[in-house]
Amino acid sequence: MSAELSVTENEAKYLKLIYRGQCEESTKVRTTAVAKSLGVRPATVTEVIQNLSEKNLLWHRRYHGVELTKEGIAEAQKLLRKHRILEILFTDLLKYNAQRACNEASKLDYRASRSLINAICKAYGHPEICPCKKVIFSDPKCKKK
Ligand SMILES: [Zn+2]
Ligand SMILES: [Zn+2]
Repeated sequence: MSAELSVTENEAKYLKLIYRGQCEESTKVRTTAVAKSLGVRPATVTEVIQNLSEKNLLWHRRYHGVELTKEGIAEAQKLLRKHRILEILFTDLLKYNAQRACNEASKLDYRASRSLINAICKAYGHPEICPCKKVIFSDPKCKKK
């Protein structure tokens, strides 16, 4: 588990996925859809959702799907900031297309430290939009001067 985050790498995948559905596509996120997206069994999803709910990062009500709490949203935004800053690096420096950059960023975002991400952010002049046109959340410790 990363020192900066209170979730495991596996749980982080769920937070990112649920955040995208709930906050960026405004859809009701159902556990069956989560299982399908991640290619795991529904029982596995139930277990992870249970853990995240014990950490107060989301609500899960039968027949109503899952919903991130304020804390869950903040955690997901931290992860997606890392994800999107990495996408900027991969598309610019390595000339990856947005899809490839996204795939590679998905494997690394959880493990990237806040200071590394802030250094990349600064090097790119504090970008606000990622290559797939999503918002890059700011970090109060990484500001434009
Ligand atoms: Zn992406
Ligand atoms: Zn993106």
